[in-house]
Amino acid sequence: MSRYAPVPFPNVRLEGKFWHERLETVLDRTVPSQHKKLGEYGILDSLKLPNPPPPLRFPRHGNGFTVQVFWDSDVGKWIEAASYALAHRRDADIEAKIEAAVDDLEKAQAPDGYLNCWYLGREPENRWTNLRDNHEMYNAGHLLEGAVAYFQVTGRRRFLDVMERYLDHIYATFGTEAGKRRGYDGHEEIELALMKLYYLTGERKHLDFATYMINERGRTDPHYFDIEREAREGGDGKQRYVFANYEYSQSHKPVREQEKVVGHAVRAMYLYTAMADLAAELNDPALKRACEVLWDDVMETKMYVTAGLGPSAHNEGFTHDFDLPNQTAYAETCASVALIFWAQRMLHLDLDGKYADILELAMFNGALSGLSRDGEHYFYANPLESDGTPTRWDWHTCPCCTMNVSRLVASVGGYFISTSNDGVAFHLYGGIGSTVEIGGQKVALKEVSNYPWSGDIRISVDPETPAAFDVKLRIPDWCHGASVSVNGQKVEAKADKGYVTINRTWAKGDTIALDLPMPAERLYSHPGVIMNAGRVALKRGPLVYCVEEVDNPGGRVQRLKIKRDAALEVKTEAGLFDGVVTLKAPATAIDEGEWSGLYRTTPPAEREANLTAIPYYLWANRGQGSMVVWIPEVV
Ligand SMILES: [Zn+2]
Repeated sequence: MSRYAPVPFPNVRLEGKFWHERLETVLDRTVPSQHKKLGEYGILDSLKLPNPPPPLRFPRHGNGFTVQVFWDSDVGKWIEAASYALAHRRDADIEAKIEAAVDDLEKAQAPDGYLNCWYLGREPENRWTNLRDNHEMYNAGHLLEGAVAYFQVTGRRRFLDVMERYLDHIYATFGTEAGKRRGYDGHEEIELALMKLYYLTGERKHLDFATYMINERGRTDPHYFDIEREAREGGDGKQRYVFANYEYSQSHKPVREQEKVVGHAVRAMYLYTAMADLAAELNDPALKRACEVLWDDVMETKMYVTAGLGPSAHNEGFTHDFDLPNQTAYAETCASVALIFWAQRMLHLDLDGKYADILELAMFNGALSGLSRDGEHYFYANPLESDGTPTRWDWHTCPCCTMNVSRLVASVGGYFISTSNDGVAFHLYGGIGSTVEIGGQKVALKEVSNYPWSGDIRISVDPETPAAFDVKLRIPDWCHGASVSVNGQKVEAKADKGYVTINRTWAKGDTIALDLPMPAERLYSHPGVIMNAGRVALKRGPLVYCVEEVDNPGGRVQRLKIKRDAALEVKTEAGLFDGVVTLKAPATAIDEGEWSGLYRTTPPAEREANLTAIPYYLWANRGQGSMVVWIPEVV
């Protein structure tokens, strides 16, 4: 097990242009505008338990379900994101808004500690009757993450006290002891939240309950969701459930026996995050092994090149191996954000750069594409091809992705470096400063770069007094020919499990130069991904590129074919999105010309053309238009 632990984001200053700009946008625009939307959509008012409750804003589906059951989670996630924002800049207005929501939650809490505003406000007699579908513990998990974050940033305990009372109620209701129900939630989330609370408080009961839920999931003699369904529906065997399988909630078999990634993608990622946390905390090799097997299954057969996850809108999740359609890709923003959580846990379970590679890929592509340049528009699904129809929206009937991306960006500094008693590991680059403690010694670190646009990286290492320790530098999987020097002296840049380790006695003023060559490259898919046959994707460094109509006028970009052997021109464009690198290549363009019917026997004419690609995360920020990631190739 790795001895490295992440340096928390409040201790990491984001000084590089790329993340500084995203962070400022989230602080200035995203977090405040999200609160406004929570108000406009009635979500904040729902905490007040209006009596009588107002009509449903989102009607029930045929199976009786409405997204309103998880409004508490949206409040919890906003409080978490807003708390992270406060860690960067205290803001009395934001704090007052959090306090107002906590007031309402405290007032709503039942005398026995129960706290779910949907059930308290609309059907108090039905609480804990449908864990499979109705997200009670999922909501509790997100509220708990918000309470932990708010306490960590402000030192105010009131929200945490409310949540601890609620947890005591949950612990008294569920468990393996006589008289308790052996339930767990259909939507995983509370497990990873409990681990955060355990790390904060050190109280064993939180670890024990997270362990109970992980162990209980998928037990089938009988299955808990069957027990509660029979209690609800009189045991007539009816399955009023659109997803009539337990793979959907990863409860089809005990988690240590699971080898294939199945079901709802966000649920799966939250589960695996908690499993990795527990594997480390309990030193449980079977759980670690399950995480590794599931990781390999995702990587080898189920992940989009953008680190998007879950091709299907039907189950918001996984289907069969190599099923990665582009235009209909669901690839929910939340799933890529949650993949980042899982990757970070795996990285600290076993310091292997393959986890940081995916963490970085998801961050720069599948997750960041969910947030617009202006910080106030979003994608829920992140397709890899568009006919121009999808547009970013300013809110969603299910706003889960909005606050997932804001809480990620507001805490992104926490993914950059880790420390142990004998070293520091750099996982991501992009311009940070931090003072860390290594073996009892304070060490100031400063990493300067224009990453992800350039792989030219300088790191200064300044211990208070000279000290020997490891500096580990991640060499990304996409990089070939990395070079490293210390104080101008070249050192061997041979990576072991993705990291070059420099062990020496460091002294004030020591500097490392890390050069990561970052050529533009072509990527091809495994032939099993039939959608990508004859197509190529472009990538430079951690960024996946796409071809968008606004840069390639003259019709839908699907008409363009890139030439296989043509050089890719790497061009810095200072005037585009405040400075980005585009890729340009010779192409041919199908002349759509005159058509009199749907089919004809003569092929369309083709002409020479040029193609411009931009980073995928930036697509759909300049109006509607077609887009492709996988570009048809002409030999
Ligand atoms: Zn989402």
